[in-house]
Amino acid sequence: MDTDYLVIGAGASGLAFTDALTQAAPDVEVTVIDRQRSPGGHWCNAYPFVRLHSPSAYYGVNSLTLGQDRIDQVGENAGYYERATCDEIRAHFSEATERLTQTGRVRMLTGHEHLGPGTDGERVRDLTTEQVHEIAVRRKVVDARYLEASIPSTHKVPFDVAEDARMVPVNDLPQAAHAASSYAVLGAGKTAADACMWLLDSGVQPDRIRWIRPRDAWFLDRRHSQPLKQVGATMEGISLDAEAAAQSDTVGEIFERLEASGRLVRIDPSYPATMYRGTMLSARELDALRQITDVVRLGRVRRIQADRMVLEHGEIHTGADVLHVDCTAHGLNNAPATPIFGPRRIVLQQVRYLSPCFNAALVGFVEAVRDDDADKNRLCPSHSYPSTIEDWPQMMSCTWTAAGRWLSEPDLSEWVAGSRLNLLRALPDHASEPSVQTAVMRYLTHVTPAIERLGQLDGSSAPRA
Ligand SMILES: Cc1cc2nc3c(=O)[nH]c(=O)nc-3n(C[C@H](O)[C@H](O)[C@H](O)COP(=O)(O)OP(=O)(O)OC[C@H]3O[C@@H](n4cnc5c(N)ncnc54)[C@H](O)[C@@H]3O)c2cc1C
Repeated sequence: MDTDYLVIGAGASGLAFTDALTQAAPDVEVTVIDRQRSPGGHWCNAYPFVRLHSPSAYYGVNSLTLGQDRIDQVGENAGYYERATCDEIRAHFSEATERLTQTGRVRMLTGHEHLGPGTDGERVRDLTTEQVHEIAVRRKVVDARYLEASIPSTHKVPFDVAEDARMVPVNDLPQAAHAASSYAVLGAGKTAADACMWLLDSGVQPDRIRWIRPRDAWFLDRRHSQPLKQVGATMEGISLDAEAAAQSDTVGEIFERLEASGRLVRIDPSYPATMYRGTMLSARELDALRQITDVVRLGRVRRIQADRMVLEHGEIHTGADVLHVDCTAHGLNNAPATPIFGPRRIVLQQVRYLSPCFNAALVGFVEAVRDDDADKNRLCPSHSYPSTIEDWPQMMSCTWTAAGRWLSEPDLSEWVAGSRLNLLRALPDHASEPSVQTAVMRYLTHVTPAIERLGQLDGSSAPRA
């Protein structure tokens, strides 16, 4: 078996890359492999009530829409663009795979695991037959698993749970919830927030929910991440980022300014927050989550027994009737940034902040239209997913530096402007609105000093390449 590109991983990144590459380079053959039985990556094992935290309008593969660009009328997301459920996301990636394979130039091998380089190609194990064979790769191996997500249903729980204590991964919460009298949600991120929201939406009183938060998190206000007709609010958010970065002396000050401007929120503003993973909440979700006041801040869980929970900095009472809900998986994988393009290899990573599908598609397009790896890396500098507020400078500096470079490349600018995955795609249609003009002006005034200031705040903020 041989192929031009071997893509390892059929998640959002591998599929968005393959879609954009094959659209822009009609002569290439691509083989995509995944150890799972169906495409979609972590969404295949996601908890049943998960939704995108960002709008569907700019998620998935570039050539196929996801959802109908509706604005939700009711619920926690009312007033904002629809967000797909995990069933809808899986259906999107299945259809995208079908369309890709129908071109005759893309081969999908699910149930196949990549083992590493062999003598005549890349070694791949067929997980049905256990046979190992080699695939000769004429151009490049594409690592679309470097940032593989860690999720509650498949991660190894990082603490002990006694046999007589009750704990479920968040995936099993809907089946297990009825048999408990109270709940302890473990984790500080978006999955834990989703579990709390699910309990509240199911009629559980807030005083029956205990939230074990090893650290407090910052969230983006979803208002500032809207596409299409609401793109003006997104531009406003980006301009507030640039202004805060240009005018602050410390990362802490940037976050204070962004909270004051409404760009960032935290569930308990009286408590310092250090975690930043770039996830979003709406004002309605925030109000609901603030009803939960039994918050335990004693560090990470070490052990759960029937009657007590041992944490890094102390112990608390728990009970056999308490259902502990595991939401402690890391989610986003913040592996260190490395150059995306190398000899005979591509490692898919983040270029524009918090845009995995856009970035994978961008890399696919650049691979198709440029020859020199150094030039490709200049156009696609990489940064790692954020985990703490200290990661913000590198993430933003990389994003703004890359965006500036794209402007002087007509073909790339045209691709970005037309991409469904570009959340700013509709900006030109709204350029005459006074609020958009104010935001654009604020961004243009501050972005260059912001990049300089971020470089002084954090020595590692220079983009890779
Ligand atoms: C709960 C949750 C919600 C999220 N919501 C959003 C959102 O709303 N918007 C957004 O932009 N992002 C969101 N993200 C970020 C998310 O990680 C990306 O959107 C995207 O789904 C990640 O896709 P991926 O392909 O990089 O990784 P994954 O989905 O993890 O896929 C990696 C794939 O590689 C395969 N693989 C690994 N090793 C091998 C091997 N050796 N051989 C063969 N196959 C292998 C795995 O089986 C897997 O299918 C969310 C993440 C999580 C965890």
